Amino acid sequence: MRYAQMRKYDIANGTGVRTSLFVSGCTHNCEGCFNKEYQDFTYGIKWTNEVENEFMQYVLDDNVRGVTILGGEPMQQVQDDDLLNLLKRVRTESGKTVWLYSGYTFEEIVEDNKRRKLIEQVDVLVDGRFVEELKDIRLQFRGSSNQRIIDVQKSLQNKEVILLKG
Ligand code: SF4
Repeated sequence: MRYAQMRKYDIANGTGVRTSLFVSGCTHNCEGCFNKEYQDFTYGIKWTNEVENEFMQYVLDDNVRGVTILGGEPMQQVQDDDLLNLLKRVRTESGKTVWLYSGYTFEEIVEDNKRRKLIEQVDVLVDGRFVEELKDIRLQFRGSSNQRIIDVQKSLQNKEVILLKG
């Protein structure tokens, strides 16, 4: 895995102060993509054990409420287990919440084995591609109105999409 950006304190992508990771690579090619250079899987910096340890130090900071994974497309990080291992580590070592942004819908994610493994480690999913015509800057934590903020664990249990409350 390669990543484009890491933010120790991010207040724009999910509730509270979060440590965020923008992974490299995405094939959705949405019109109006706000991170076009991040679509390239070779962009950015290689993910290593040292980088992972640095990331975990940020996550364990008392000011940080959780982690947010964006891109790029986190659900296309299936060439290796770097992201899956990171999410498992966040959950076991910090117990903090994981938000993830994907251009795939929840339904598309759960029907694919590799993507499903990743989503099982996530608490909140902001799903769906960015649609320029549905762009609305008043929306909190999402770019266009087709995107949903989903309570992943409840949705997996109930086998249907349940939106995050509040
Ligand atoms: S899913 Fe995100 S990164 Fe990928 S093309 Fe769409 S807006 Fe860009």
